[in-house]
Amino acid sequence: MLLEIDDVSLLYGRIQALHGISLQVDEGEIVALIGANGAGKSTTMRAISGIRPVAGGRILFNGEDITKLRADLRVRRGLCQAPEGRGIFPGMTVLENLDMGAYTRRDRAGIAQDLDRVLNLFPRLAERRKQPGGTLSGGEQQMLAVGRALMSRPKLLLLDEPSMGLAPMLIQQIFTIITEINEQGTTVLLVEQNAQQALARAHRAYVLETGRIVKSGTGEELLHDPSVKDAYLGVA
Ligand code: ATP
Repeated sequence: MLLEIDDVSLLYGRIQALHGISLQVDEGEIVALIGANGAGKSTTMRAISGIRPVAGGRILFNGEDITKLRADLRVRRGLCQAPEGRGIFPGMTVLENLDMGAYTRRDRAGIAQDLDRVLNLFPRLAERRKQPGGTLSGGEQQMLAVGRALMSRPKLLLLDEPSMGLAPMLIQQIFTIITEINEQGTTVLLVEQNAQQALARAHRAYVLETGRIVKSGTGEELLHDPSVKDAYLGVA
């Protein structure tokens, strides 16, 4: 197992957002986490990336207990979250933003190779490489955030709502790119409101309800599960 979350709880003050969740991500997988607004999807990501401390349970990454490890040290171990929303550096150009993603790395040849790869994955970013990040459209900024995360060459890429606010055509595109990223060897854990697309792309998925995992299965199984269809796919 690349990532193993075991009975993790998390509190925001007196509010308990996660009630002992357990989930696993194996190397090479795309795993999706779906659930309604407020179910705890982003919170789960924050626990994994180390932005919020957990109140109980264990997180293992690559066999190492990282439950109490600082967020920046998790990034160095290959656990990288594309910033929530569009957290890019607005005053820096596209290229400078991508460079920042590689800040933990020293292998210049590898960095150059990954830059090529990101610019190939996102031709739109290649066209705008000299443009300040803050002047990109919302969708382009979202792509830049994903591209920047890829520049750290993560073992596990955490994506929190990568399709949020994108036009339908771009949503398709971003999911195609996620599949490509995975086929090129990166394991992906994905949080999505867009359950249909996420389940169609994911090898496995978990359903989160009010801070608890209530169901898991292959993407295919959950796509055809009547209760999942009812609650999350907008079709009876
Ligand atoms: P959405 O799809 O709407 O983004 P989500 O599944 O990602 O939802 P979370 O953002 O993880 O949900 O929130 C889970 C619960 O924790 C919610 O009830 C939310 O109000 C609460 N919560 C999240 N962040 C905080 C915070 N900083 N302080 C207090 N409560 C919070």
